[in-house]
Order: sequence, then structure tokens, then C-alpha cells
Amino acid sequence: CGIVGIVGKGPVNQDIYDALTVLQHRGQDAAGIMTIDNGMFHLRKENGLVRDVFRTRHMKRLTGNVGIGHVRYPTAGSSSSAEAQPFYVNSPFGIAFAHNGNLTNAHELQAEVFSIARRHINTTSDSELLLNIFAHALQNAAGFEVKPEEIFSAVETVHTKIRGAYAVVAAIIGNGMVAFRDPFGIRPLVLGKRQSEHGDEYMVASESVALDSVGFTFVRDVAPGEAVYVNEKGELFTKQCAKNPSCNPCIFEFVYFARPDSFIDGISVYASRVNMGRKLGEKIAREWADLDIDVVIPIPETSMDVALQIAVTLDKPYRQGFVKNRYIGRTFIMPGQTQRRKSVRRKLNAISSEFKGKNVLLVDDSIVRGTTSEQIIEMARESGANKVYFASAAPEIRFPNVYGIDMPSANELIAYGREIEQICECIKADGLIFQNIDDLVDAVREENSAITRFETSVFDGNYITGDVNQEYLESIDKSRGEKIKSPVIQEELSNLEMHNMG
Ligand code: 5GP
Ligand code: 5GP
Ligand code: MG
Repeated sequence: CGIVGIVGKGPVNQDIYDALTVLQHRGQDAAGIMTIDNGMFHLRKENGLVRDVFRTRHMKRLTGNVGIGHVRYPTAGSSSSAEAQPFYVNSPFGIAFAHNGNLTNAHELQAEVFSIARRHINTTSDSELLLNIFAHALQNAAGFEVKPEEIFSAVETVHTKIRGAYAVVAAIIGNGMVAFRDPFGIRPLVLGKRQSEHGDEYMVASESVALDSVGFTFVRDVAPGEAVYVNEKGELFTKQCAKNPSCNPCIFEFVYFARPDSFIDGISVYASRVNMGRKLGEKIAREWADLDIDVVIPIPETSMDVALQIAVTLDKPYRQGFVKNRYIGRTFIMPGQTQRRKSVRRKLNAISSEFKGKNVLLVDDSIVRGTTSEQIIEMARESGANKVYFASAAPEIRFPNVYGIDMPSANELIAYGREIEQICECIKADGLIFQNIDDLVDAVREENSAITRFETSVFDGNYITGDVNQEYLESIDKSRGEKIKSPVIQEELSNLEMHNMG
């Protein structure tokens, strides 16, 4: 998901909209904006892309100088528009809330929120839980105006109760904007500032590219465990709210998820991808010295930066062999392999002349189910390729992700229980090579050596929060399966929230 929040000196609706459009790659499933004007919330959220969710009539009504926004990542979990964000609770003060990540102890929290806090949760979204825990922790704040220390103490409580990955932004009636990041720093969050004639304006966002797009300058990454509070006057307060914070950014942000023009925890996503290309190119040169590669071809678009650097490293030509239809809808959670296969072909088409009689090296950022690679290899052969080799900028994905990157169940992952040779057979390549995990980490770390560890669980099964066991993995597998089987039930979830503009 992608989140954004602004405390401005003028209306924030257009800037939040623009920021959401540049965060669109982080979620195409649903979008929402909630603003505060004169002690009232205004909300518009719906399934769909940013450009489709917000019409002029919605924008006109999203008035006010404080607001937050969200784009939801397509996961198998939450397809109902009632689970679009921001979420809202009316007590204390009235809080709007948006979240990127996933909690790993949601089940226990659910029980606690009801039995101790007497709060009802109406959706299956862990974000609604997180909001209620934050709201309950803030319940003790004394006056109408919350003091920064009271906000920080509520965030401290949140950190002690919840487990998992979370970057959060909230807007509180009569007070301002709060944002915080989990103590392991898994999901990204940046702080930006803009000078207006009426004083400083502050913004938080999932990626720095969102700041660039609306003219805010990057101040810094929000630190793991840290909370940022900006009151309605535009005064900034920050505090470390976690006991033992450490920075372990999700490595998949660099591999696939984030935009190349973003910086996360001091690391240029683009530069890290170029490094990945160099490392993988060197591995190919070492291990495949005897292969006669004629040309390097990327699978658009994420892998292009990597593929170009592989070509440079190998001193081979880099050519565009596939054209992507940029108007295609998402194919990501299409149920069933047949649909997925077809959709690869609707999305990508080959330029035959680039394949005819050649030994091609195809490059992708990652292999998940193997559908894309299998289809692409078949297309390359149909176009007359001689030999088809395949390189993945990420190592084998063998484990589910529990921190907000949607990955299928382990047994749907093509690398699950298979060695490289078997995967190569499945996708029918003449050769298959993966980046080593150490090389991947080095490629990213090269850009900021202060970061000593990354969240790499999909590759090595080490879950950084230390609380993810087999039982939990099985339970998320099970609920994923149930949701895919009964999408209707998801749609029926009704929205018990405040007025959401139609
Ligand atoms: P699209 O761009 O069409 O929305 O995405 C399709 C790509 O997402 C395909 O290459 C597909 O294999 C990959 N994909 C399919 N299911 C999943 C999933 O559950 N998680 C992730 N991370 N990727 C997936
Ligand atoms: P596969 O076809 O092997 O299931 O997926 C691999 C492809 O999925 C790669 O081309 C990669 O760029 C893409 N991919 C990886 N993660 C995601 C994701 O979270 N969403 C989408 N739409 N594509 C993804
Ligand atoms: Mg791709």
C-alpha cells in the first residue's frame, strides 16, 4: 500500500491526490482521501485507481488544510470497498487512519480490543485493529488539545502491543497529523517540508517520489519506531517511541515494489537495481562463461534497469524484445493459472525480429509463480529464438511474506521445494540463473552501509520480528484460500463508517 499525509497552510486535497497518483504503483486496488475542515471529516474512498475514484465533485468536497490518503495494494485478503482506507473512529476526538503493512498478531489483538477496550471491529482488516488500539491508547489524553507527549505515549503503547510491519498516518480532529513506523523499520516512510508564505507545511509519504511530485523537499526518513506529530499550527514534534528500534528495510521494495526514482532509508532504489544488474552480470560471466549470449532482453518494466546493467557488464547488446500494453488492467490476482497465462500474453507482446535465430538472455526482477517466465520463454521461442536463457535479479522466492508484500501460498511459489534445475525445467528455459542472496543484500547495502540487515524472509525464511511460526503461516494460508473461494462474502461486508461520498 501507499500512504500520504499533509498538514498545509492551504487546501491539501490536490496535493494528496497528486501524491497518490505517483504512489499508484504501490496499490491499484482502492484509493481514499480523508481531510479535516473546521472540525469535520470529509471522506471519499472506493475500489479502483486514483484517477477513477476521485471525480471533480469529490475533490471539491475534500476541503481543509489537513488530510491523509491511501492506495491499497491488491492482496487476496481485502477486496471489499468497506476495507478501503482511510478508516475512521469517532473517539477520542475523531481519528482518520491509513496503514501500509501487515500485523502478525492480529488474531490476539482482535480478542483484546473487544474484551478490554470494548471496541467493535467490523472488517477483517488489521488496519482497523491498529487504529482501534491507537485510539484506545489515546483515550486517556486529558484535554481537547492533545499534548505531543500524549500522542507519543499512545504510539509507545501501540509498539508494545502490536507485532509486524507498519507505516501509519493518522489525522486527529482539532489537533493534527501523526505518523509512525514500526520498530524494525520494515515498511518505508519519509518526512518532507515545504515553505509557504504562511509558514512551514509538512508531509509524510511511503516514498520520497511523492514529496518530489508536489514540491516538498525531503527532510529525512522517519526512523524505525519513531513518531512524528504535526499540529494544526504546523509545529513539528518527533520522538523515538520504541525500546530497541533497528532498521531492517524490506528488500523487496528495492527488487520490485518501489519506484526507481525513490530513496528509501538513504538508498536510491535505482542505484540499488543497477548494482543488482552488475552483481548478476558478474555471476553470469563467472558461471556461464561458455554460453554464447547474443542479446540481453528485459521483461518490462521493473527489470529494465537491471537488464541494462547486465548487458553492460557482459558487453552484449541490450534490446527491447517485448512491448507492454500500458493500458491493461491488473492480472495479479486473477484466479486460476489459465487466466494468469492468458493475461501475460495480453500484457506483453514480442518483437519477433529481436529473437529470430538468436541466443537470448531474458531478465526479470523476480520469479514468483513462474507464470510470466514460462509464458515469456514460450513467446521467445515462437518468435524464432535459438536458445533462451533466463536471469532473475532476485534469488529464489520460497517463503510467504507476512509484512505487507502479497505473495501466494508457499506451494504456489515455483521455487518452493524445487532446486534451480527443476525450476528451469518447469519454465522450459535452456538455462536459469538467480542472484545470490548475499549479492542482493550487498547490491542494496552498497548505497548505505549503515544498514546492517534487511528483511529478506521471502528468500531465506528468517522473519525479522521473531514471532512468525509455522502455525501462523498455516493460518494465513488458510484464510487466503477461504477468501479466494468466497469473494462474494468479501463484497457483502458493509461499510459502517462515516458518510463516504458517493
Ligand atoms: P499485473 O501487472 O498483471 O497486475 O501483475 C501480474 C504479475 O504479478 C505476474 O507476473 C504475476 O505472476 C505476479 N503475481 C501473481 N500473483 C502474485 C502474488 O500473489 N504476489 C505477487 N507478489 N505477485 C504476483
Ligand atoms: P510470476 O509470473 O513468476 O508469478 O511473477 C513474476 C513477475 O511478477 C515479475 O515479472 C515481477 O515483476 C512481478 N511481480 C512481483 N511481485 C509483484 C507484485 O506484488 N505485483 C505485481 N503486479 N507483480 C509482481
Ligand atoms: Mg515484472
